[in-house]
Amino acid sequence: MDLESLYQDIILDHYKHPRGRGLLEHPLGSAFHVNPTCGDEITMQVARDADGGLELGYDGQGCSISQASASVLVELLEGGTVEHSEAVRLAFVALMHAQGAGEPDEEVLGDAIAFAGVAKFPARVKCALLAWMALQDAEIQAGLLTTGEQP
Ligand code: ZN
Repeated sequence: MDLESLYQDIILDHYKHPRGRGLLEHPLGSAFHVNPTCGDEITMQVARDADGGLELGYDGQGCSISQASASVLVELLEGGTVEHSEAVRLAFVALMHAQGAGEPDEEVLGDAIAFAGVAKFPARVKCALLAWMALQDAEIQAGLLTTGEQP
């Protein structure tokens, strides 16, 4: 199996079996983003769990890339710190802007490396980034992050 089809399998698996999908009962912050060029919609919500880690909830509809990306995001970041979520988000944004030439760091990005192939298709980059942009807005709204903050 080549890398491209392995990546496609990871994306399809998250699309068919989304991790952590569903909205929170008491979100601290919530953001609804749409990608009009593809028709994707994502609502991303953040709260704190009992241990102070990130609690994430989301819902949405759209193409497999947009929905799988949200599932990967939640799997990677749920229960972690805001600083960790920012570090992973920035690494993912950098990967998606590398036009396929990026060297994804699997230790940081986990299953999100599967989107490395998507970065070659500018029209699909917005699909992949949708959930991550909504996460940033939800964290800002929750007061967990200030605009432009770097980890
Ligand atoms: Zn899409």
